[in-house]
Amino acid sequence: MATKLHTNTKLNAELTRGITVNPLLANVKLSKTIEVFATVKEMEAAGINVTSLCVGEPDFPPPRAVLDATIAAVEGGETRYTAVTGTAGLRSAIASDLKKRKGLEYADNEILVSNGAKQSVYQGILAFCGPGDEVLIPAPFWPSYPEMVALTGAKPVIVPTTIEDGFLVDPVKLEGYINENTKLMIFCNPSNPTGAVHSGALQEEIALVMKKHCQIAILSDEIYERLVYNDENPHVSFASIDGMFDRTLTVNGFSKAYAMTGMRLGYVAAPAALLKPCVTIQSQLTSCAGSLSQAGGLAALTKVSETEMEANVKIMKEKRDFVVSRLSAIEGLKYFVPDGAFYILPDVSAWLGGDDTEFCLALLKEKALALVPGSSFGADGTVRLSYATSMEELTVAMDKLEQFMEEKRTS
Ligand code: PMP
Repeated sequence: MATKLHTNTKLNAELTRGITVNPLLANVKLSKTIEVFATVKEMEAAGINVTSLCVGEPDFPPPRAVLDATIAAVEGGETRYTAVTGTAGLRSAIASDLKKRKGLEYADNEILVSNGAKQSVYQGILAFCGPGDEVLIPAPFWPSYPEMVALTGAKPVIVPTTIEDGFLVDPVKLEGYINENTKLMIFCNPSNPTGAVHSGALQEEIALVMKKHCQIAILSDEIYERLVYNDENPHVSFASIDGMFDRTLTVNGFSKAYAMTGMRLGYVAAPAALLKPCVTIQSQLTSCAGSLSQAGGLAALTKVSETEMEANVKIMKEKRDFVVSRLSAIEGLKYFVPDGAFYILPDVSAWLGGDDTEFCLALLKEKALALVPGSSFGADGTVRLSYATSMEELTVAMDKLEQFMEEKRTS
């Protein structure tokens, strides 16, 4: 049933009578991360100095080569529509990058450049799922996954993982959630919000389960693949696992590794037959990714040295180690040391009755420190810290968190 437009005193009820909201939206929530971010902005506008570990974007600027190429594109008049699928140069550079670093052999025309990985994820879901279909989503999950699935009319099926198992998918448990309606598995590796990295060996076990159910496509969101910190657990692309290439959509983007969040550039790579429906959808939703951003993306892949990339990873690893060492000093706090991404998801269920939203609100009010409640990631009783910020900010944040948790323990 369609819902009536909510009461808004600015609208003339008589003139808007009969306008209803798409019933699919009844099952879709506004992004919580964005909501918390908005509250932080409001507090800041009121003159309060808030420390925020909420937002998922690196604090460093994009590489100089990216900025230069973008400026050159402005000056050179690269301001027109490109092909829906992206410029030939960028598609080719993405295919080469995936081959070189991930061992994946995509043809240039098996790459679809988008306005960010977020768009690629949604298009991938929409291309294969609709009413009656089920989509496997391991939890804790990136909050957009279940909401995007709901927007297509399909049903999100949450597959829990535990902090004790390092938030890794258990292939045996996973199989218990599969039936003939299961059409897609969304696999986020490294994971937002846990930072867990699934090894090649574990992905092979997951693939064995998938092989028994050939109706399931896999959307592998690898946007954090560059940000991994354990040499013994390097990132392996799901599409490179035996038998999985033909059924996998590999999603990636330029927001995290190259700090190009505002430039809105991502892509999906998939065998032509899987890519085609995504191209059809994209051709009707957006004409193409921004031409200037595509020029920047091309420079990211062709002009930024591995040394520069490794330097950023090293800094991020230092931040992870710092946060972990500070968390280890808080008595009774459970957490899992992440191998990738830039998040950590400690379990605060022993504080404030285990309500993570109450925990975050009290922390925000009492210490002006903003974290995201784990319940928005399907991880009740946890909170997510993003350590992609400056060391100064991190130090202040960890001081505030430690103080808060000590106070709440004694009260
Ligand atoms: N996937 C995951 C898991 C993410 O965390 C994000 C960004 N928060 C995205 C996709 C979207 O990235 P983009 O900026 O490329 O749209």
